[in-house]
Amino acid sequence: MTRPTPPMPSDADLRKLVRFSTEEGLIWLSDQRMLLLHSASLTAVRRELMNTIGMENTRRLLMRGGYASGERDALLARQIRPNATLFDMFSVGPQLHRLEGAVCATPLLFELDEKAGRFRCHVRWDHSWEADAHLREWGPQNDPACWMLIGYASGYTSAFFRRPALFKEVQCAACGHSHCLIEGRFAEEWPDGEQLAREYQPDSMLVRIDELHSQVEALRTRLQPADGQGPLLGQARSFKAAVDLLRKAAPTQVTVLLTGETGVGKERFASALHDMSARAGKPFVAVNCAALPAELIESELFGAEKGAYTGAAATRIGRFERAHGGTLLLDELGEMPLAAQAKLLRVLQSGEIERLGATRTIKVDVRVVAATNVDLEKAVEQGTFRRDLLYRLNVYPILIPALRERVDDIELLAMHLLQKFSALHGKKVAGLSDRAVAALRSHRWPGNVRELENLMERGLILTPPGELIEVATLFPQWNDGGQSRLSAQGFLVNEPPLMPDTQTNDLYDEMQRQGLTLEALEDSLLQEAVHRAGGNLAAAARALGMTRPQLSYRLSRLRERSLEAKE
Ligand SMILES: [Zn+2]
Repeated sequence: MTRPTPPMPSDADLRKLVRFSTEEGLIWLSDQRMLLLHSASLTAVRRELMNTIGMENTRRLLMRGGYASGERDALLARQIRPNATLFDMFSVGPQLHRLEGAVCATPLLFELDEKAGRFRCHVRWDHSWEADAHLREWGPQNDPACWMLIGYASGYTSAFFRRPALFKEVQCAACGHSHCLIEGRFAEEWPDGEQLAREYQPDSMLVRIDELHSQVEALRTRLQPADGQGPLLGQARSFKAAVDLLRKAAPTQVTVLLTGETGVGKERFASALHDMSARAGKPFVAVNCAALPAELIESELFGAEKGAYTGAAATRIGRFERAHGGTLLLDELGEMPLAAQAKLLRVLQSGEIERLGATRTIKVDVRVVAATNVDLEKAVEQGTFRRDLLYRLNVYPILIPALRERVDDIELLAMHLLQKFSALHGKKVAGLSDRAVAALRSHRWPGNVRELENLMERGLILTPPGELIEVATLFPQWNDGGQSRLSAQGFLVNEPPLMPDTQTNDLYDEMQRQGLTLEALEDSLLQEAVHRAGGNLAAAARALGMTRPQLSYRLSRLRERSLEAKE
């Protein structure tokens, strides 16, 4: 018995998700990057595929393409209508299929009995772009031709219910009917479910290549030095040059000076150097000079005899002695007090240490690696660092590039970190949304890789299992302001989001308290936006929900006014 389904709810919430950013050449559907491309170009690809790999392979390939697209849209469904009825939530799929211009999908039947594992869904398709294109190119067919569309329906429904569901096209416009009809069930409900499901399996040759690929990756990882924090990952030229310098230094005894901004991974480089050297089996000891109080740094480094100073109740072994035979990392060396610098220089020259309060020296065999994020040359000029020590240490400097200077490595690193934290927290997410990746690439990264690490760990923890990490999770402060949205008639409208009433009240009160005019408030907002965007007018304009010319105009007016005020 077929019960009529209710009509689908309004799709206004979905249309709001479509954003056009012509300045950047991007179209978004929520966090996913979309393309507006000619159906003729997709038809041309279809033709080429049919000619090269044959109809059967083309069909399966396109079905899988559609499947992936449906899976992505399903991630949106529960997010966008969390409190709706199951049918309204499910309708996101057919409604997005309409919005994306694929087909006019109308559910005719929707029945679910979860306990019995029974799912029945009939959908009518009008104006299928695929049936249309196929018919025009190859004439009337005996078999249905809406391959990408049927893949979408299966992918969407499987991801929506988080269990395999499959659709069949039982009537197709490409076969001479006025419209297409599809029917869906859970995979195990179809008598030929197994065979249907196989159509979505990647081709065996591709699977084999993929397997080999991951084996090679696994082997490559094993060949990398084990540094406890993952391999020195990166493809950027500046980064590879730094790693290359490190490799060449490893078999020698040369004193290495690692420089670079905070968080670029100096300790990781130092421990990798240790692991690649002949000292690998011996201790690797790290000291953070900035974290130790000035009065303790000497006893920490060189040790102290019992009674050497007040509180030295027992003999203390210093880090130099503990690192004997191995490597000692002196991190944030620029923070070391001058008195300790003098002693360090003596140790480097003589290879001998003297514990505080001791009467004899001890020979140590230690390779020193120094690291700093301050410009030591400048520190010498300012009198906070010894010139002779700098000469002693600056034999083999390696500059580790900042993360913003290797933008192409960011996604690679993010995925690596996600895997690492996934294993650590026993939780899996679907990855990063396209928009989140774009945001990661455009971020300035003052904290470099360490900042990325924190962000990925937080993103993994905050994102529900199996879902994509969204940009709002990574950068809650990221507000894309009033961007163009799509009206029901398909027009772009500029619709700045209204502030909640409470915030408006607070803002008004604050203006009254400070005696600010609307103009003054606007001026300070403009300046703040430009300042936060680091002078990038396009980005500042975006944050304020206006175009770049609009912002330039307002800024020039602001300048004129301030000149007038001075006169
Ligand atoms: Zn069809």
